[in-house]
Parts: sequence; C-alpha cells; structure tokens
Amino acid sequence: MPDGKTHTRLHKRYIPYATAVGVGLATLSGRPSTGVAFVAGYLVGLLIEPDLDMVGITESERRAMRWLVVLAVPWLFWWSIYAALPFFRHRSLLTHYPLLSTLIRLLWLFVPVLFISGVMQWDVQPFLGALLSREEAWVFAFGLSLSDLVHDAADRGWSAARP
Ligand SMILES: [Zn+2]
Repeated sequence: MPDGKTHTRLHKRYIPYATAVGVGLATLSGRPSTGVAFVAGYLVGLLIEPDLDMVGITESERRAMRWLVVLAVPWLFWWSIYAALPFFRHRSLLTHYPLLSTLIRLLWLFVPVLFISGVMQWDVQPFLGALLSREEAWVFAFGLSLSDLVHDAADRGWSAARP
C-alpha cells in the first residue's frame, strides 16, 4: 500500500490532468471561475484526503502544520476526532470511496462551523444557501473528489496510479 509521500507524488503527477479538466470546464461553461474551482478542489486534496482516517499525524497533516500555521492546531484536533470515530475506519467505504467520502469530509468540516454559529447565535443559513447554490461549490467538490479518486486508485494498486 502506498505511503503518504507516494500519495503526494501521485497527486502532483495528476495536477496537469486536473488543470486540463478545469480548462475544459471553463471553456464549456464560459466561466473561468468554474475551471478555477475544479483545480482548487483538486489542489485542496493535498490537505483534505482519505488517509485523514488514520490515527496519528499523516503526511497531509504535516503539510497542514506548515501551511496553516496557527490554524493547524484546531485542524489537527478536528481530524483526530474524525480518525478516532469507529465508523470512519481506515480505508472504509465512508473514508475512501470517491465522492461519497469527499462529501462526508466536507460535511465534517461544516460541523464546527454550525456548532460555533449555533453558540454565537449567528444566522449562517443565508451564507450556506448562497454557497450551495453556486455552481463553483459543487465543481470544487468534484475537483476534490478527483483527488480522492487518484488516492483510492493508488490504494487499490491500479496501474495508472503506480508510483
Ligand atoms: Zn488511503
């Protein structure tokens, strides 16, 4: 099974393909922001990825410590809870199946937002409604899902994803 460094190398290998898809989407939709959202989603896969289901510091969490600086503390805390939950077992359907696991991880990130906004009595419903009605938000999720697909393909040993 590939380690974190191998996953990172494979992810970077597919950046040109993700960019080509992004350019295609921007051309087809006539909106550059759609293409940017797809590529951004793919690149965010360097931080939000299937192996966050592993207890302990993963390769992407080490990257988060470098890139997110102070924000890395709540980031690592929140993902350590995710990793510890029994239904998010390592390489299970819920953490590794592309699209399904992508959406679960994105929802997981919304839990503290909803909790904090509930405590602070902020009305985030208009914000969430506006976000979810944007084409870019969904295209972003598809870009992130492509990243997860590359990861899962490598875990399964598919030849296109060999190191
Ligand atoms: Zn994995």
